[in-house]
Amino acid sequence: MLYESHSHTPLCKHAHGMPSEYAAAAHRAGLPGLTITCHNPMPDQFSAHVRMDLDQWDEYQQIVAEAADQWRGKVDVRLGLEADYYPGHVEFVRQQIADTPLSYVIGSVHPQTPEYRRDYRTDDPLQDQITYFNMLADAAETGLFDCISHPDLIKNETPEDWQTERLIDTIASVLDRIAASNTAMELNTSGRYKRITEMNPFPQMLRMIREREIPVVIGADAHVPERVGEGYPEALAILQDAGFDEVVYFVDRQPQAVAIREALQFPWVQ
Ligand SMILES: [Zn+2]
Ligand SMILES: [Zn+2]
Repeated sequence: MLYESHSHTPLCKHAHGMPSEYAAAAHRAGLPGLTITCHNPMPDQFSAHVRMDLDQWDEYQQIVAEAADQWRGKVDVRLGLEADYYPGHVEFVRQQIADTPLSYVIGSVHPQTPEYRRDYRTDDPLQDQITYFNMLADAAETGLFDCISHPDLIKNETPEDWQTERLIDTIASVLDRIAASNTAMELNTSGRYKRITEMNPFPQMLRMIREREIPVVIGADAHVPERVGEGYPEALAILQDAGFDEVVYFVDRQPQAVAIREALQFPWVQ
């Protein structure tokens, strides 16, 4: 059965609850595993208001290890990371990942950060959307990440100008590049709380992901323990509609496949 593959800690300054509380929530939901993937520390104060400080890196690993000890035999608690992809910081992240025994590494492009707005946003929403999608492929091509997270997040920055027909050609070429990079993609259930209230990415993009046989990881992106495993049955149904038979989660950087048909039969506690 599936793990919760996207969850945070209070170290990122915008989440609540210790890893042990997320593990308790995973246990209540009946999930056998939980990967903590808090926002990685970055140099030069890069969006420092939404991530742990560089000198909290050891503390992060320690609180995850404590939860793993506490829940051993009940919930497999794993150390993961949500690392930002950002030009200029790729080598830093490469070193950070290489030096740490991570079970799962998510690569994220966050178009809502002050740095991204300053460097990449223009007064042309369509151009901004194209830029964002191309950066997802750039992120995948670094080879650093197991999975690219919430891969249409830009729609919430430009909701009035979100017309997917205009982006299909861009997305097709971006997904060709991601498929060639052997990187998985995420179906993020927290999209239901954003300005465009649907999971990320949108269903047609999931069908395009399926056509290219890119594996998909479900993640709740829990910033509170109560959201662990939230929306999984609906996410599984959305994937099935898009033509998928399997989902994956990662353990020790290796994809573990689960049949959707089996996962849907699980007695989900929601
Ligand atoms: Zn966050
Ligand atoms: Zn994110």
